[in-house]
Amino acid sequence: MKVIQLIDTALCKGCGSCVEVCPMDILRIDTISGLAKIAFLQECQTCYQCMVVCPTDAVSVCPRRKKIPMPFNYKMEDDENG
Ligand code: SF4
Ligand code: SF4
Repeated sequence: MKVIQLIDTALCKGCGSCVEVCPMDILRIDTISGLAKIAFLQECQTCYQCMVVCPTDAVSVCPRRKKIPMPFNYKMEDDENG
């Protein structure tokens, strides 16, 4: 499944960058924990923007790609598995 798969709550700092950048409005800051959560997984377009902007590398989008600064400019690590 090619979608966002995980937000690691041990790494998330609740900055909200992933929530703001998601073009599909999938992510939310949990009102109790103050950390990011996946609210509407089915709508994910696997654009990787949430993973790229996260300052703590807490977001995992499948298939995993190398993290580099600019969105939409990736090197695939496992294209054949995607
Ligand atoms: S991969 Fe794109 S569409 Fe999916 S949650 Fe992240 S920013 Fe939103
Ligand atoms: S960008 Fe990263 S640290 Fe910030 S809220 Fe999202 S998952 Fe948490």
